Amino acid sequence: MKVTIKQWNAVATWRWDMAEDDDVCGICRSAYDSTCSKCKYPGDECPLLMGECNHSFHMHCIIAWVRQEQSQDRCPMCRQPWKEKGA
Ligand SMILES: [Zn+2]
Ligand SMILES: [Zn+2]
Ligand SMILES: [Zn+2]
Repeated sequence: MKVTIKQWNAVATWRWDMAEDDDVCGICRSAYDSTCSKCKYPGDECPLLMGECNHSFHMHCIIAWVRQEQSQDRCPMCRQPWKEKGA
């Protein structure tokens, strides 16, 4: 039996080491109902943004992320091109 693992490798290298948790922002690892690492108080000042891939992040986190050249404007969780849902 022959098994090709080329594809698997490409996907595995990107995975975060930490366990996946649906309730935390994939960038700062803080809970969605908490704030990003730069804000002190949850609420309108630090909203969540959802992308068309259905991943959500704190607005400040995803803005900072896409500004980085290495992000290539892609979602940090699934690597699809980042586009804000409904925008
Ligand atoms: Zn965050
Ligand atoms: Zn914030
Ligand atoms: Zn995504």
